[in-house]
Amino acid sequence: MKTLKQFADEINKCVLCGTCRSVCPTFGVVQREPASARGKVALCGAYLNKEIELSDVFIKQMNECVQCMACKTACPNDVNVPDIILAARAEVAKERGLPFAKSFIFKNILDSERFMPAAMKFASKLQGLLFKGVPEESGLHRRFPLPLIDEMRLVPQLAERFFLEARSQKPEDIGNIPLPTPSTPLPPPAGDRRSQKSEVRSQNNNSRPRIGFFAGCLINYMLPNIGEACLKVLERAGASVIVPLDQHCCGMPVLGNGDIETAKSLALKNLEAFEKYELDYITTACATCGDGLKRRFKELLGDEYPERVNAFSSKVRDITELLVNELQISTPNSQLPTPNSIVTYHDPCHLRRGQGIADEPRELIEMSGAKLKEMSHPCRCCGLGGSFNITNYDFSMEINRSKAEDIKNTGADIVATACPGCMIQIKDGLHRLGADTKVVHVVELLLHSPSP
Ligand code: SF4
Ligand code: SF4
Repeated sequence: MKTLKQFADEINKCVLCGTCRSVCPTFGVVQREPASARGKVALCGAYLNKEIELSDVFIKQMNECVQCMACKTACPNDVNVPDIILAARAEVAKERGLPFAKSFIFKNILDSERFMPAAMKFASKLQGLLFKGVPEESGLHRRFPLPLIDEMRLVPQLAERFFLEARSQKPEDIGNIPLPTPSTPLPPPAGDRRSQKSEVRSQNNNSRPRIGFFAGCLINYMLPNIGEACLKVLERAGASVIVPLDQHCCGMPVLGNGDIETAKSLALKNLEAFEKYELDYITTACATCGDGLKRRFKELLGDEYPERVNAFSSKVRDITELLVNELQISTPNSQLPTPNSIVTYHDPCHLRRGQGIADEPRELIEMSGAKLKEMSHPCRCCGLGGSFNITNYDFSMEINRSKAEDIKNTGADIVATACPGCMIQIKDGLHRLGADTKVVHVVELLLHSPSP
């Protein structure tokens, strides 16, 4: 990862034209120059020139960014503002340290194969005490005042049985490549690829494409139905799917907070989890995870493990990209709950701007038999911004309001997207507006019925 100092030349390329300001959603809400993309670049330049210090005000401005990349796309001089902001956050973490709670959670829970599932299981058992179900919604409201939880907030429900937990209990569901268990010897370590390949192929005994599925935390802990839908659609498309059970968080929330070391540790663990298998592709249904696995892993591990990380990242495809471009599915195989449903589509920032994928999800929607109706601004950010939604909830929902109104104005029955984070945020925004538009992942449209 480049340090803030290494961005000095790029910061100097900024000519203060303000093009980025007009597309920046944080500036759109507060109309303050330091909250804009241009303002943040100027602050980083002033810090590097030793004109200002890493003050609380500087930190606040760097944290007021949802990493939507709209500024980067708009900038005529190719100034990579989101990455400059990430480098500034890393500088803050290095110089001032992370707050104790964040540091503890990132290093001891998120980066642990034992404690993360245990902590989430504990939270899932406890959620009924703290939250109550919202009628007609698959979400929760708090029962009494809680820190960082707004009274109106639609909190996503933790699953009773997590996606990876279900896979470990039903290994026979996972394509026809057996999972390594104590009685099934692990394939040979990286470096002995030839023997591993022949071993898996003889077990597989056909030429079906072999896909590794990366779940990501939101699908694993909150929306396992999306993971299940992906496995079914992939298997119908003729793929063999394997879900490595020792996969971890992709590390993008950690990176967004400037903790480069934990992000590297998580990236390396994921590399090791998937390298055990001879795979044609690695796929995910989370736009943020996909952007991380394709792009950020190379930045994090490229200096130390260039060949390994390039081999890994070159196989990563978003699920929509994989289904359309690689597996080339074309047969409509869905039965929408409402015949002739009208579906509008929200472009996740990390899919459209991060990975350049916009057509494939739309093709899948049309393949499902639905009628696609575009909203006015499909690639306007939903306002989630990783932990921005937790630390700046009102701000985040103010950004979301335009998105929710845009969706409502289409009159669509369903809004589909390709990122579980966007789904949670959009559901909360529509709930606030009193709109009953269903929110689904595009892949769910290819099955018999979307999630409630
Ligand atoms: S990434 Fe988005 S929120 Fe952040 S500065 Fe750029 S336009 Fe603004
Ligand atoms: S669009 Fe680019 S050059 Fe113009 S103000 Fe923003 S960062 Fe600077």
